Amino acid sequence: MKAESGVKYSVVVPLYNEEGSAAPLYIGLTEVMRTLEEPYEIIFVDDGSTDRTADILSEIHETDQCVRIVSLRRNFGQTPALKAGFDAAHGEVIISMDGDLQHDPAEIPAFIEKLNDGFDIVSGWRRERKDTWLTRRLPSRIANWMMSRLSGVALHDFGTTFKAYRREIIQNIQLYGELHRFIPALARWSGARITEIPIANPPRQHGKSKYGLSRTFRVFLDLLSTKFLLDYSTRPLHFFGFFGLSAIGAGTSSGLLLLFQKLIAHSAIFASDGVLAFAAIALILAGVQILCLGLVSEIVSRTYYESQKKPIYVTRVAKRPDLHLKFGQEAVASSEEDRFSNAGADREKSTSLVPK
Ligand code: UDP
Ligand code: MG
Repeated sequence: MKAESGVKYSVVVPLYNEEGSAAPLYIGLTEVMRTLEEPYEIIFVDDGSTDRTADILSEIHETDQCVRIVSLRRNFGQTPALKAGFDAAHGEVIISMDGDLQHDPAEIPAFIEKLNDGFDIVSGWRRERKDTWLTRRLPSRIANWMMSRLSGVALHDFGTTFKAYRREIIQNIQLYGELHRFIPALARWSGARITEIPIANPPRQHGKSKYGLSRTFRVFLDLLSTKFLLDYSTRPLHFFGFFGLSAIGAGTSSGLLLLFQKLIAHSAIFASDGVLAFAAIALILAGVQILCLGLVSEIVSRTYYESQKKPIYVTRVAKRPDLHLKFGQEAVASSEEDRFSNAGADREKSTSLVPK
């Protein structure tokens, strides 16, 4: 599929206060992109920088037609900045990378080579990380392990933004909060073919990192919501129902046990009857509430999907039905002539729609 604008590669770079890195990055990127000998664009997203980043980007834009700038009104964060770049991109292939020179443009051809092998997403893997162990590498290791276990995507490094995507995959993904780390997991839902390649991880040369240890906590919560949404967004009752019914089941059995004790056996099996009675009531009440939460979530889920006409599946290729079948279904046409003209219009549409 050729992109409408003829652009083949879009490089998306979010920048927040990167005045020291913007120009050298542009020079490095341009050098590499030119060697690919295909039309490309570089989209710099200025995420509300307060230093000279915006001025430097404008100067670059004035001298080079291949550079586009998206300026956000304030600092929205890396995920919205990336999404703004993805939405603006025209290329068939979109490459995202950081703007702090921690990603080497010279590695872009390797990403493209992998995409040409038939993958939809190629993710960078910082095999030898230079960051500090306790605040960066250890939390990242744990988070990556959990992400790959929970999402079923066998990647070592979800955290890096150095990735290449086919446009149709990335533009169909909605990103909230700081979900850019979960793009492979989210894309997996739509059947994307994902792989990874090792990349270098040079330390930051200018400015300082925008993140600290608090990121770990947010990543963990994002992991939880992503896992829930991926698995249960179309069937929340299966999730809540499990816990609700288990609690009701446990509460009811404890209640029955107590009843049996009192009425038939007349003996105290447990010394602390009162606690068990309380637990039985609490479990039943909690179970009923959780179950109701599941039912409400079912309504929310239906509203979410139906109000936006969101599909609950993704097609890779859709071949149109045979023309005579389509013609047979034209019940709305008022006259015989209309029917033929509708069928003719349909024929044109269907031939142009059939994927090559
Ligand atoms: N970034 C951004 N908006 C923000 C924070 C970061 O656009 O609010 C950009 C930043 O300029 C850099 C990239 O996201 O190009 C990665 O940020 P950083 O280097 O601080 O993250 P780290 O490499 O430490 O994980
Ligand atoms: Mg960085």
